[in-house]
Amino acid sequence: MFQKILIANRGEIALRVLRAAKELGIQTVAVHSTADAEAMHVRLADESVCIGPPASRDSYLNIHQIVAACEVTGADAIHPGYGFLSENAKFAEILAAHNITFIGPSAEHIRVMGDKIEAKRTAKRLGIPVVPGSEGAVRDDRTAKKIAAEIGYPVLIKASAGGGGRGMKVARTEANLSEALSTARSEAGSAFGDDAVYIEKYLEKPRHIEVQVVGDGMGKAVHLGERDCSLQRRHQKVWEEANSPALNIEQRTRIGETVSKAMADLGYSGAGTIEFLYEDGEFYFIEMNTRLQVEHPVTEAITGIDLVHEQIRVASGGGLSVRQEDISFNGHAIECRINAEDPRTFVPSPGTISHFHTPGGLGVRVDSGVYSGYRIPPYYDSLIGKLIVHGRNRVECMMRLRRALDEFVVDGIKSTLPLFQELVGNVDVANGDYDIHWLENYLADHH
Ligand code: ADP
Repeated sequence: MFQKILIANRGEIALRVLRAAKELGIQTVAVHSTADAEAMHVRLADESVCIGPPASRDSYLNIHQIVAACEVTGADAIHPGYGFLSENAKFAEILAAHNITFIGPSAEHIRVMGDKIEAKRTAKRLGIPVVPGSEGAVRDDRTAKKIAAEIGYPVLIKASAGGGGRGMKVARTEANLSEALSTARSEAGSAFGDDAVYIEKYLEKPRHIEVQVVGDGMGKAVHLGERDCSLQRRHQKVWEEANSPALNIEQRTRIGETVSKAMADLGYSGAGTIEFLYEDGEFYFIEMNTRLQVEHPVTEAITGIDLVHEQIRVASGGGLSVRQEDISFNGHAIECRINAEDPRTFVPSPGTISHFHTPGGLGVRVDSGVYSGYRIPPYYDSLIGKLIVHGRNRVECMMRLRRALDEFVVDGIKSTLPLFQELVGNVDVANGDYDIHWLENYLADHH
């Protein structure tokens, strides 16, 4: 087992990792920018190192500073959290060259899954269902027309190097195709420096359902069920739940087993998420995230398994603590991502939180790095914290969520708490009856 882990992140996720390391008796090192000297993860870590000025590229993305911090403190492993360097294959390689363990998958697996065309090809080879579409990049309009006619309109043009929902164009008919292709190519070229695009069937009303896996890197992998993250704004998840209100136990088991077998065959190591669009009873792979995700606590709530413990165990060569037959899914969990944003316009609202009070009681978890008097710096994402509520079933979970939201106080800045208070009282949300466009449509009508 590791002696000391350096956490190359900030905010609630740095705290999350720190808690797991402490439970395992491992020393922790926090790194921080000059803007984060007063942050909770810095206060709670055994040691801390300032790695640069506020801008992320000079601090949390500064590989040299982070490696140096590791060497100075004698940390033997790095947990990257999510975002920042968590899916940077080069970072994983540099750490390996310095004999520091990267708590995550191999650089090769990060690289394969980071390229959308390569990821889709790999998923297909491993038996994971993918969206019908081109076999790789589409270079000319004639081929594009042929493929689009085969799969049927509407089609979606996507950038191979895409990310964050950017570089996508829908073509509803053949008449729109050439224009959609050239717009997508030029957008991809300027945004990502790579104009390779590919085509897939455009799904009209899918849900976003993702499967959590953990592999031991030695040919074993387990799945921890799915999360439904269909409530999104601008492709950003807002509300996540486990289990999905749309799946039954057979569907859950079937997709879970498909994915865990695929990851076992790949020899995948660590935690990963396979994201699908789900429509009319079918799953369609869209991408794999080779890291811990923001919404992982809903899975922890229904399985009782600490995903960060598993990541650390696997990275240290200790294997998984659970077999598939040990994993069961109990009750229902919902996570709300509470952001420092205006609840109507979603404009970020950094500043000082004059009063912060979190809800408590049975089935309530708050993962947050803020406190009363904390000043949210303007340089990073606007997540204040995550409220995760667990109940024996979805109805109980919703009742508990409503009461937990009522207890939550964030004063001094604007937050998205009022949005969740609205959502928890909405009849479609209560019925679990929503697709990936529901929230955008709701906001257009009500805000
Ligand atoms: P990115 O890496 O840019 O986030 P994804 O492939 O994950 O790209 O897709 C982002 C979002 O775009 C999905 O969550 C979904 O809302 C939408 N999307 C992607 N592919 C399709 C598709 N074939 N049909 C309909 N919507 C899609």
